[in-house]
Amino acid sequence: MQMIGNYINGEIVPPVGGAFLDDYDPSTGQVYAQVPDSDGQDLERAVAAASAAFETWGRTPNAERSRVLMKLADLIEQHAEQLALAECIDNGKPLTLCKSLDIPRASQNFRHFATMIQHDRSDLHPIDRDALNYTLRRPRGVCGIISPWNLPLYLLTWKVAPALAAGNTVIAKPSEVTPMTAHLLAGLCQQAGLPEGVLNIVHGYGPKVGAALVEHPGVPTISFTGSTRAGGEINRAAAPLFKKVGLEMGGKNPNIVFADADPEAALAGSLRAAFANQGQVCLCGSRLFVEHSIYDEFVRAYVSKAKQMVVGDPLEERSDLGAVVSKPQLEKDAHYIDVAREEGGEVWCGGAPVRPAGRCQDGWFFPPTVITGLGPQCRVNQEEIFGPIVSIMPFKDEAEVIAAANSTNYGLAASVWTRDVSRAHRVADAIESGTVWVNCWMIRDLRVPFGGMKQSGIGREGGQEAMRFYTEPKNVCLKI
Ligand code: NAD
Repeated sequence: MQMIGNYINGEIVPPVGGAFLDDYDPSTGQVYAQVPDSDGQDLERAVAAASAAFETWGRTPNAERSRVLMKLADLIEQHAEQLALAECIDNGKPLTLCKSLDIPRASQNFRHFATMIQHDRSDLHPIDRDALNYTLRRPRGVCGIISPWNLPLYLLTWKVAPALAAGNTVIAKPSEVTPMTAHLLAGLCQQAGLPEGVLNIVHGYGPKVGAALVEHPGVPTISFTGSTRAGGEINRAAAPLFKKVGLEMGGKNPNIVFADADPEAALAGSLRAAFANQGQVCLCGSRLFVEHSIYDEFVRAYVSKAKQMVVGDPLEERSDLGAVVSKPQLEKDAHYIDVAREEGGEVWCGGAPVRPAGRCQDGWFFPPTVITGLGPQCRVNQEEIFGPIVSIMPFKDEAEVIAAANSTNYGLAASVWTRDVSRAHRVADAIESGTVWVNCWMIRDLRVPFGGMKQSGIGREGGQEAMRFYTEPKNVCLKI
């Protein structure tokens, strides 16, 4: 049994209270590690360490902070195989995806922000020849970072990297469902020579140690990625304390295929958008709108391809989909199939858990599932499922599909497939979401603002937006 520890003040330590939670391998359904069930005592230690470290780290020259973070990126790359395997076992996603997406992106996150601080600049606003305003941006102190299970190391480092680069210290609370890569990152921080207390990682339940982090008066900044439900709780808890809060939350993303789209690109892109990472990406296109003149043909081709996708052992290269992350998520996926049938939907493929033979026979696997016949207002098309389930709907024209696309409480991302450039601009402009991809899905540029509208988020991450979030601007007005 592998034992995970908290990372506090540069050391990997057991929780003060001695309690642990089970960590499961979703591909076998077996417990394979123990993760700290931390409480307020562990958090107090982390806050003390992070507060003390801020005195020095916040004044460390940018070039030195950059050097340490680049070293960490190097170490992630040197240990990429080990990290990818750990993520595959902890999360259930295909090893090929861990190797090609999650782990490379984790090192890119550090490289991106470590180089960005080397090119820092600030604004100057002269008032004629009478006065100069200049803006100082300083780190805010201890940041609380709370991350989800679907892209565990990728999303944790997406927040940790800019926070540390800007000169803050951090207490990270990874998902208790997938803690292993954060634990390995702690070991790499030690090797990289990251000063003690600069990054602290406290494991455990969200409503317990996560909530304690949000409520702690010594942590003025909270950055959260996860469900809209938990984001709401965090926002309510932080509001009376006047904390700076960034929330990246759920999505119910529309994927719109016009009749003039490149059919092969739209088909391949829409399949990827629905089923990548078992449909467990906040950006997944789970509502697929297809223009009526190509609808029947598109659905036939889509279902045929979905049926060919291989669901199986995530360690095997041939597996397109691995296990879903947990038993509750498997049950949630199955529950929404019942809801779809009650609402009058037709299930064309998938629709029930599967058991691959051999090593994974007790694992949690759900196949690509395609549903038709449901209107945009049905629960299946309004509520985030976060599994490999897509609902396809026909539409007549641009106005109808824009209204349907915008009809949920979410506004995270969208895709539009068309060869008409003017239409692409019009539709992209009209869709209420933080990101719109045209003729693609999930091309990510770390410089651009990333985040959601409506109940998908408050604030933006990425590039300058992140550096602004993790710093406090101060205007100095100098009379000449
Ligand atoms: P979750 O909200 O259950 O948990 C996310 C994190 O918050 C975990 O670390 C959890 O322990 C913690 N947490 C839960 N309740 C808390 C509380 N009351 N106080 C403090 N911390 C708390 O989400 P999840 O199931 O891990 O992840 C899936 C969700 O994340 C989906 O809704 C998905 O759309 C969303 N997500 C969003 C983005 C984005 O960028 N917008 C990216 C990835 C995932």
